[in-house]
Parts: sequence; structure tokens; C-alpha cells
Amino acid sequence: MRGRGQATVYLLMKKLALLPSLLLLCYATLAQKGVSDLDQQKAAALLLRMTLDEKIGQMTQVTLGVVSKPEDGVLDPAALTRAVGNYKVGSILNVTNHALTVDQWHAVIRQIQDEAKKTRLKIPVIYGLDGIHGQTYTLNATLFPQNIGMAATRNLELAAAVTKVAAMELRASGVRWNFAPVLDCGRQPLWSRFPETYGEDVYLGKTLGTAVITAYEEDGLRNPTAVASCMKHYLGYSASRTGKDRTPIYMPEIEMREYYLPQFKAAVKAGASTVMINSGEINGTPVHASKYLLTDVLRKELGFQGVIVTDWEDVIRLHTRHNVAPTPLDAVAMAVNAGIDMSMVPMDFSFFELLKEAVQKGKVPLSRIDDAVKRILLLKYRLGLFDQPYPEEAATANFGKPQYQAIALQAAHEAMTLLQNQDGSLPLARNTRILVAGPSAQSISALNGCWSYTWQGKEEQWYPADSKTILQALRDKLGAANVTTTSSPGFSSPGNYDTAALKEAAGGVDAIVLCLGENAYAESPGNTEDLALPAEQVALAKAAAATGKPVILVLTEGRPRLITGIAPGMKGILLAYWSGKKTAEAISDVLLGDYNPDGRLPFSYPRSMGEMVLSDRKPTEEIREIFNSDMTMDGYKPLFPFGWGLSYTDFAYGDIRLSKDRVKGGEPLTVTITVTNNGSRDGKHTVELYSHQHYASITPSMRRLRAFKKVFLKAGESRTVSFTLDRSDLSFVNAALKTVTEPGDFDLMIGDKKAVFSYTP
Ligand code: BGC
Repeated sequence: MRGRGQATVYLLMKKLALLPSLLLLCYATLAQKGVSDLDQQKAAALLLRMTLDEKIGQMTQVTLGVVSKPEDGVLDPAALTRAVGNYKVGSILNVTNHALTVDQWHAVIRQIQDEAKKTRLKIPVIYGLDGIHGQTYTLNATLFPQNIGMAATRNLELAAAVTKVAAMELRASGVRWNFAPVLDCGRQPLWSRFPETYGEDVYLGKTLGTAVITAYEEDGLRNPTAVASCMKHYLGYSASRTGKDRTPIYMPEIEMREYYLPQFKAAVKAGASTVMINSGEINGTPVHASKYLLTDVLRKELGFQGVIVTDWEDVIRLHTRHNVAPTPLDAVAMAVNAGIDMSMVPMDFSFFELLKEAVQKGKVPLSRIDDAVKRILLLKYRLGLFDQPYPEEAATANFGKPQYQAIALQAAHEAMTLLQNQDGSLPLARNTRILVAGPSAQSISALNGCWSYTWQGKEEQWYPADSKTILQALRDKLGAANVTTTSSPGFSSPGNYDTAALKEAAGGVDAIVLCLGENAYAESPGNTEDLALPAEQVALAKAAAATGKPVILVLTEGRPRLITGIAPGMKGILLAYWSGKKTAEAISDVLLGDYNPDGRLPFSYPRSMGEMVLSDRKPTEEIREIFNSDMTMDGYKPLFPFGWGLSYTDFAYGDIRLSKDRVKGGEPLTVTITVTNNGSRDGKHTVELYSHQHYASITPSMRRLRAFKKVFLKAGESRTVSFTLDRSDLSFVNAALKTVTEPGDFDLMIGDKKAVFSYTP
């Protein structure tokens, strides 16, 4: 197919008496997974007809506010003509303030595409949005757990199902480009975007990212159930030294390649069609200005062929914030020469003007412009925008189907992570009289978090009318008479922190469900000075514990707030994350035993600011030296370890069985284990396989997650689970920055079981 396509392009070029060699070169660079030859030919041919203005317009992305009236969803015809007609912008993003209805979206998209049809070449506009945990910006779209909660489910099929719904609800809204998934590795829990990550582990991030990208794009982008995905934010964004959003990252390349690059490498392989760049700087070089990271690593080494879009205002910030470009013109030339294809300008047309000037002055070669524009055109062809740029009837029918609610409930159920259950206090008996207290008891936003109908997710008037609070969900189950509360609607409502009222109300109940954590936040507004739970929440927990009634702590939070001081006084601790539409229902199902929890921590829950060791720790982090000869092996001492999560039933493992104890070269190794549900309840369980190499040229990690499988077991049932590994699953990045597997002995660990084998090349 590829050969035939090439020949056709050649003939076409000959006929047009144009530069075949140049085009063939361009065509070769576009050979991309799932990309048809015909689309490539069309993109190449269209490029030849474009003026410089038309090309630069395609590389320009503005925000909806630029073409809107102050009212949400109402376009300003003159502004639209200026943007699409005069500046020929190729892409528009976002909303002005909050989510729109499907109908409003359709009207917006139609007007934009109508305007595009009036232009000389009628190139459709591509609309992009942040559907981070479902389609954020359409009213009544289904919201699912944030990525951190999806990582707790350890369920790749479920992650794919959730993604499919997000894709369908985006496309039903007329939007074909989603700025997701976030592939940044969550190794810095202070970071305000931690909830958008899959947690601290590379393998978890890689496998979930692959499942999600495949689900967004799997039907071929032309299909009305697919959208273009966007890997973000390449690269290292999550590793800011201060923990504050968009602050500097210092990262040796060996760390970058071991912990931050593999997720993007896997995503490129899975066929991601676009990528967004990290707004931050690494070792003093803003990523938007890094030819090394954008062109040498992403394009040449990883082979990424899709569109590279900047993040918000990040081109001009090379001049205004990072101060590496002495003038705005230099900033534009720097970013485009480094490899960006499209600039999320997004508030004006400065990028257009400056890039034109830069090309005219010879600061940016035309070949770079052609390369960028061709990728953008190709994406538009692949998405079917040239054939039908308007909202598609077949897609619209996929909005808001009743079955999405069931998927949202399953996802929230499987995210629930039971961290503590003293004396089998959970599940609560059906006749328990409970007091529900705390700031998230009657908050919807604190159950959903960032990117929920608004950017920050805090404005509850935009949530679906049938969204439930924890209080409502518990009352639905136990009857209003058995569920009292001291809470008031709204996270910050002063009554929520009234310890005296809590003590008094506790008199007449059997148990207290205390709902603490974080209200919604996104990006920089979520920066925090401290991971500790706010003092007023700690006071509530202490007051609750002092009543002597069993206290069940429910945490709805995007990142792990420290609870070490209060945890011993809590009979049960349920980590609910921000799990979307069905969070409250999932919490009440777990508390009452209608769902047996199976979520597993996707990060090490820190004990304190001084105990932040991660699961894939090095030996010297595990060994704690007090004096020379006085050492302990408790260097990894989180409050709850990575992978932790209790069930209402007991799972036990048989011994690990290996297909061989000596592995040579590329031979596969099969690892088998039997898991038995010894308890009296049915339940799901994730078998996690870790490896540890005894000696290696680079200090080996104490454990690395290499594989996992989630199984459902009825009470009393056993199941044999197998994994097949090969040497690539045991690799690491060596001092020469090469990914290698070195000979030696390896431990394989599943739960409390261990087996040893040796590897020779
Ligand atoms: C965020 C991106 C997002 C973009 C558009 C930026 O501030 O960093 O993740 O896609 O805004 O909303």
C-alpha cells in the first residue's frame, strides 16, 4: 500500500511539474500508523496551493473568547471573520467560562466551519478541548474518575471503556480533538496536577496511557466514535522542584529516560496523533525552545509523526517569562525552529504576525513551515473534517446514553481504595445510625475535582441536576431518619468545621462518617504550601475521634494530603479520590458493603513531608543507616505503600511458578501463580508482579512493577494467573543512556511470594 501511495504522489507531482523530491521527502516523514496514503497525498497537494499567510494561519490556535461575545457560546461574527477569514486560523480551543449545551456547541462549530468555507481554500478549523475525565465542557456529559482514580482501578478495559464514552461525547458535541491523556508521571505529590496523572509508576502510566490512546483513536479518526488524542505534557512537566505548577525542573537525562520518557514512547507507538508541550523548563531550557527534546528525541528517536501543539501562551513566554528570547520575534523563531507545529497563542494574533516576519527575514525556513502545516492538514483529513466539518448526526446520537452512568459507577467503584479497616469496622451494618460531617459531605465539586464543567470545577451550578452528595447517597441507602448531619452545602461553609456541633450530634449515633479532603482545583490555582490537611479539618477529625464513636474517614482529594496524625483514631479510611459523577454512590456502596472495594494505591501515600520515598526506591533509600553498624530496612516508610488497598474478603497466593529458572537472550519467561479468595464475599483482586535485579551497573531499584492483572473471584474460588515476560520487561537505562537488560539474578515478587531466576544474554 505504502509503495503504491508513494508512486501516486510522484505521478501527481510530475503532472503538476512541481518538486517531486521535496514532496516525496515530506511524504516519507508522514508515514504514520493508521494514516492512509490518500490522506497524505491530499495534504501534500493542498500544501502546494497555499500562500504563506494561509500556512501560518493553520499554525495559529486561538481561544474561543477571541471570537466570542461576552455571553458564553455566542460568537461575534466580526471577530470570527477577523480570525478565520483574515488571519486564517487553523484551530480554536476551549470555552469562555463554562460548559455549553450540545446544541450550543453545534451552533458554535457550525458558524466556525461556515466561516472557514468562505475562505479561498475552505480549510476546516479543528476544535480542541480538555476532556480530562470525560467531556469537561459539555453540560450533562458523563464525568469519570480523574486519572489518579483510574490508575487505582488497575483495569485497562475499564479505562478504555471510559475513554470511549469521553470520545463519543466530545464528538457528539462537534469536537474532534481532545487534549488528553496526561502522561506526566506523578512522582511529586505536591504538584497541583497530580490528580491528572496515573501516579508514580512508569509501567502503570505506560499501560494506561496506551489503553486510553488506543481507545480514543482506535476506530480510525474518521469514525464518529473517535477523537484525536493529545499526549501531554511532553516532557517532565510533573517533576517541578518546588512542586508548584510551571516552575523549573532539573532532571538528569538518565532520570528522564527511566521515569518520564517511556510513557510518551509507548503512546507514540499506540498511535497518538498529537502532543502538547510542557510549559516548564528543564535544566534551564524551556521545553518549547528545546530542539533536542522536540526534534531530536520526539521526532527522530521516538518517530512521532503527528502534530506538536504548544501549551497556553508558551511561545511568547519564551520572551516574557523564561527570558531566553530577547524579543517576541526571537521567541516565535525559537519555538518553531525547535519543532512546534501549532501555537496555542491563544488570546491574539501576534504569533501570526511574528512568524510571518520571521519567515520573511529568513529566521525560520519555509521548509519548517511546510513540515508543520502538512501535519496539521493531514490530521484534518484523517478526522474527516474536509468531507464533513459540521457536527455529525451519527455522533450526536452517542451523547448521554443511559449506559454511560453504569460505566461511571463501575469506574468509581473500582477506584475506591480502602486504606484502613480496624476491627472489621467496615462495612457498616444496615441499621447503623450515622452522623455525616465534614466539608465534602455536601459538596459536589469536591467529588469531581478539576476540569468539571469549568476549568477549576468549583461552580456547582453547572453539574448535572442528578449529581449526588455523600450525604444524599447515604440517606438513599439508610433512610433520612438514620443519617444526621452537621454539614452544610459547599466545601467552605463555616458550619462544616464546627467541632462543637459535631461532638453534640455524635451523641445519638452509632458511627461518624467524616468527609475530608480537597475541594476542586486545577493547575496553578491548586498550588499548595503544605501537603498537611488544613488545621480545621484535622480539628474535626480529632473532635470526631474524641467522641469515642467509630469514625470512618472518607477522603475526596486529588493528591495525598497528610493524615498521619489522625489516622490511628480512624476505624476506617476510604480514599475516594475525585471519582466523577458517581463518587457519592460508590462511597456509600463501599461503606455499606454493597460493593467490595478493590482499588489499589497508584502512589505511595506519604507519611510526612520528610518521608517521600517512592515504591521503586533504590537500595540506599531502603537501608536506613543510624550509625555505621546500626541499620534498618525501613527506608520506604509511607503511611500506605504503592499498591495498597484492602478488600472485604481475603485473597491468598500459592507459590510463584516459573517456566524456567535460567533465561537466555530473548526467550520468554512464564510466571504463574494461583490466587484464592478465602473469604466469604466475592471480589476483584489485582495481581501485581514486581522485579528486582540483585546487581547491575546502575543501582537497581528494590522493586519495579512489571505486570498486573485484575481478576474476579467468587468466595472460595481459585484462579491461576500467568504473565509472560522477556528481557525487555527487565530493562533499565544505563550510564550510556541506553535501555539495556544486564545479565544477573532477579527476584520476582507477587504479594508475599518470591521466586528467583537468572538471565544471560
Ligand atoms: C494546560 C493544558 C490545557 C490548556 C488548554 C493549559 O493551561 O496546561 O493542559 O490543555 O491549558 O486548556
